[in-house]
Amino acid sequence: MTSRICVASHHTSIAELLSDAEFRGFKGRDGFLVELRLDFYSDLSSATLSAALTAVGTECVVTCRHPDEGGKNPKLTDAERLAYLQQAADAGVRYVDIEARTRRGNFRKGRSQLILSFHDFNAVPDEAALTAQWTLMSGDADADVIKIATTPQTMLDGVRLLNLLTNARDSKRSAIVLGMGEFGFWTRVCGPLFNSPLTYARGEGAPGTAPGQLTWRELDELYRYREIRPGWPVYGVIGNPIGHSLSPLLHNTAFRALKLDGLYLPFKVDCDAAEFVRVFAPLGIRGLSVTIPHKETVGAACTEIDPVAKAIGAVNTLVLKPNGTWFAANTDAFAAAKALEQASGTLKGKRVLILGAGGAARAVAFGVRELGATVLVANRTRERAETLAREANAQVIDLKELATQKIDALVNTTPLGMHPKIESSPLEKEQIPQGSIVFDTVYNPLRTRLLNSAAERGCKTVEGWVMFVGQGLRQFELWTGQSAPHELIEHVILNALQQRQKR
Ligand code: NAP
Repeated sequence: MTSRICVASHHTSIAELLSDAEFRGFKGRDGFLVELRLDFYSDLSSATLSAALTAVGTECVVTCRHPDEGGKNPKLTDAERLAYLQQAADAGVRYVDIEARTRRGNFRKGRSQLILSFHDFNAVPDEAALTAQWTLMSGDADADVIKIATTPQTMLDGVRLLNLLTNARDSKRSAIVLGMGEFGFWTRVCGPLFNSPLTYARGEGAPGTAPGQLTWRELDELYRYREIRPGWPVYGVIGNPIGHSLSPLLHNTAFRALKLDGLYLPFKVDCDAAEFVRVFAPLGIRGLSVTIPHKETVGAACTEIDPVAKAIGAVNTLVLKPNGTWFAANTDAFAAAKALEQASGTLKGKRVLILGAGGAARAVAFGVRELGATVLVANRTRERAETLAREANAQVIDLKELATQKIDALVNTTPLGMHPKIESSPLEKEQIPQGSIVFDTVYNPLRTRLLNSAAERGCKTVEGWVMFVGQGLRQFELWTGQSAPHELIEHVILNALQQRQKR
């Protein structure tokens, strides 16, 4: 059974819904449903409901939410709500959604399927309360689908939702389990892995009817929602914050282009990364990208760590091995070195100056050293530069002595020049060594002040997005053993960054 995308009507009247071409377009469209939220509509009557059902067809979910569970019309009595829902059931709509708390009296679902629902907009109830709710609802003989929509306040609240999903799948109970908000993002996409009949989405440009709803197009095109099947491997990026990550775009584009089973999700992880890896294993996670603030700590989840990642002291990739243990790697180092090598030819014997001594600097230093470069480091805090120099067998220099140094390539790993402070730069134009290759790891904006100054000075330049794409492509290879289509990925990421820059 394929899981469907249910696009929730956000309209404030039925007249508004009927004049919305996007919603009319879902009628008869395979894999889609529309949700009618009767409690939203100011012009609700038996006649307007009939008109709405004629317009959208019977492939819909009809809901008239109780005010205590997010309903917007407190004037409607239970009897009135049930009368409208009975009209929808009599018309033969696919689903009627009624809260478990509502006494249904002599409501007859007829050919419709009953979604019995429970909502909590503040929290995820504790294990005992959630189990009690589940037991109550699954004991209702009329319930065809159980819907539990709650609000995780932390990533670990999601474990209880994962348990519900696993139980539903194992007991062959049709269920929709949703976590509203950022911490529950994953629940909106991974339902098909657990045989959920549908997920909710918003229209393009619509505000959505619940926190964290994706647009139907994002679900359909980026996450391939309608193609996901139980058993698909799950990948993702863990970080905090994570909302702006382009990694889901990069990896899902690659899976789609190669027609490979694989779903890549962003996880906002506010807990210990190793704990996340352990408790979310039942989701079927096979690989993870790791970003701030987990790069230094996630290694604790792994039994094997790549020597370069160990030397850097940071991990950006986790790979699940066939024996069920985790291998940790750092593809930033590889990507940075490759980006520079592509621009300069071999790095063997070349003198590479790194500006900064933080996480990115460490990755660049160990990466270019692996390819035979001599590394120099300049940093605001000299002690930090000295530590990196000691570990990476590099030399510390002061920017005042830059003119006396032979530099073949220069890499900025400080945030200077990044949006919104785009006028800042780690070097003035005159300080940039002539004839050097200048690589800025900052990629927002795409052309930083440093890169523009370098180009004016006749230097070859490398933009930071090249490293971002490179580290992702290498991750994809480590997970799947296949090469992602480079040109397509570069095009898609560059396009997304250009769009962002316009906003
Ligand atoms: P980090 O660990 O915080 O290190 C930042 C470094 O920049 C430190 O050496 C710091 O110097 C220096 N710095 C910060 N503000 C400065 C200022 N106002 N003036 C002079 N130096 C300053 O950060 P990170 O993880 O290395 O990331 C740094 C940048 O790299 C990010 O902003 C990001 O744009 C870029 N990056 C790009 C990619 C990519 O794929 N292209 C990947 C990772 C990172 P002190 O030691 O004195 O504090």
